[in-house]
Amino acid sequence: MVGLQHRSRAVTGAALRADFPVFERPTASGRRLVYLDSAASAQKPRAVIEALAQTYAHHYANVHRGIYELSVDADARYEGARRSVAAFIGADSPREIVFVRNATEAINLVAFSFGRSNVGRDDLVVTTELEHHANLVPWQQLCAATGATLAHVRSTDDGKLDLDDLRSHLERGPKILAVSHVSNALGTINPIAEVTGLGRAAGATVVVDAAQSVPHMPLNVAELGADFVAFSGHKMLGPSGIGVLWGRRALLDAMPPFLTGGSMIRRVTLDGAEWNEVPWKFEAGTPAIAEATGLAAAIDYLEGIGMDGVRAHERELFIAAWSRLGNMPGVRLLGPDDPDEHAGVISFVLDGIHPHDVATILDREGVAVRAGHHCAQPLMDRHGVPATTRASFYLYNDHDDIERLADAIVATQRVFGTA
Ligand code: PLP
Repeated sequence: MVGLQHRSRAVTGAALRADFPVFERPTASGRRLVYLDSAASAQKPRAVIEALAQTYAHHYANVHRGIYELSVDADARYEGARRSVAAFIGADSPREIVFVRNATEAINLVAFSFGRSNVGRDDLVVTTELEHHANLVPWQQLCAATGATLAHVRSTDDGKLDLDDLRSHLERGPKILAVSHVSNALGTINPIAEVTGLGRAAGATVVVDAAQSVPHMPLNVAELGADFVAFSGHKMLGPSGIGVLWGRRALLDAMPPFLTGGSMIRRVTLDGAEWNEVPWKFEAGTPAIAEATGLAAAIDYLEGIGMDGVRAHERELFIAAWSRLGNMPGVRLLGPDDPDEHAGVISFVLDGIHPHDVATILDREGVAVRAGHHCAQPLMDRHGVPATTRASFYLYNDHDDIERLADAIVATQRVFGTA
C-alpha cells in the first residue's frame, strides 16, 4: 500500500491531478478535463489502480476458505483493509465494519435486518426531506412491510434541516431516525452530532448516511453518536463495488442476517443453520476482495493528505465558487451560503435553460457536471424545480476549474441567448 510516501502532502488541486491518470485523457474540446462530478463518483489515483492490479496479479484467491499460502495472503489483505477502514473512521473494532457493495446496500441491510425485527405497525420511522433516495426508499419499504408510519423532517428554503421540526418529530418517540450527514443534491452539511444526540436522547436508533461526508471531511464514529453509518468506496477515491456499514457491535450481534448462503454461517444442516459472528454474518458469498484492498489504498492516500486538509481545500473552493457564480446574472444557487454549513457541492439553475442543456454545453467546454434530480426527487419538488445542475469538488480541483466552469456557463447562456 502507498502510505508514507504521501505523508503531509498539501491539497493543491493541480499538483495532485498528476496522481490521477484520467486527467491525461484529452477531451473533445481539446482542453484539459475539468471534473466536477465527484459527488457521483470520484476519480482514482494511481495508487488505488495499482493496488487493484497488484491484488489480482499477485495476491488473489478466495478469502475465508483456503488453507494454502495464497488464500491466507488474500485473507490477510482483505481483513487488513477492514482494519484500515475501522481506523479511518475511529471504530472501536474492525468487527464493527461490514463490507457491502455500496451505501445503498448498507442502508438496505439496516432497514431489512434491524428494521424488520425491531419496527412494528405502531412504530414511527423518521427521515428527512434532504435525503438521497437510498436513505428514503428502504424506509418506505420497511414501513410498507411492517405497517409502521414514515414521517419526514422539513427543510428550510435555504436547504437546511428544520431542527424545530426534527424536535417535534422526536417528541413522538420514533424507533428509527435516518438522516444524511451531507446532502448530495444541495451540499448542506447537517449539524450531525447535534442531530444524533437529539435522536438518541429521544430513544431512536440513528442511521447516518455518510456517503457524502466520509470522503470529504474527518468523521469519527466514536464521537458521532450514531448507531449505524453507511458510505461507499467509490466516492472516496476507491473502487466501485465496495461500501461500508459501520454499526454498534451490540446491535450488529443482535441482528438477523440480511443475505444468506456461504461464508455467513458457522454450521449448516439440511434443516437449518447457525450464523457466523459479525461482521462475517453479514457478508454472504464471495466478497469484493480486490476492491477491499483498493479501498485501503484510497484510505492511505487520503490519510497521506489528511482529512482536515481535504475539507479545508473544498471549503475554500466553495467560498470562491459561491461568490463567482452568485455574482453572475441568470444564475440561481441553492443551499445554505454559510461555508461551515455547505460542502463542496454547488447546485444551481440557469434562468430559461434546462439543466440537461446546461450540462451538455458545459461538456462541450470540457467541464463534466451532473444534471438531473440527483436521486433526490422529493427535494427537487420542495424547491419547485425538476432538476438542477450540480458541480461537486474534490482534492484534485482548483480555482482554475471554477473559472472554467464560470466561462462555460457564460458560453451556455450565449448559446441560449440569455446572457
Ligand atoms: N447517499 C448519498 C447522500 C449519496 O450521495 C449517494 C450516492 O450518490 C448514496 C447514498 C448512494 O450511494 P451508492 O450509489 O454508492 O450506493
